[in-house]
Amino acid sequence: MNGQTTTGRGQAAPASGDVSSKYFKREEFSCRCGCGLNNISPELVATLDKIREAAGIALRITSGSRCETHNKAVGGKTDSAHLKGLAADIGIGSGNERFLVSKCATAAGIKRMGIGTSLIHMDIDKDKPQEVCWLYA
Ligand SMILES: [Zn+2]
Repeated sequence: MNGQTTTGRGQAAPASGDVSSKYFKREEFSCRCGCGLNNISPELVATLDKIREAAGIALRITSGSRCETHNKAVGGKTDSAHLKGLAADIGIGSGNERFLVSKCATAAGIKRMGIGTSLIHMDIDKDKPQEVCWLYA
């Protein structure tokens, strides 16, 4: 499964920007509506680096930062951790990937996780309940 996506394969982060990452480019966390918002938390990116390292497979970020408009458009909660740059959704392609990514996420200290058919949401929002895992029905 290695190399099945074009992102998260170990490209160096750009010299500019305040997020330094071994595996992710800052742009991967920009709001998907094209507004340019990118308030992604360096702490979250550091945790994602750990998860990526442990998992040993490419991690595709399907959603990172979200502006209010985009969050509403994709049906996000009004207090979504994506608005604060504290959440990322990872694309998941198989049951094995779902197991691996969730295992590595909890090992890396993620305490909030949402499981969907084709994604895993993870966030580090300390204002929300900790040690929870929910489903997107
Ligand atoms: Zn936006």
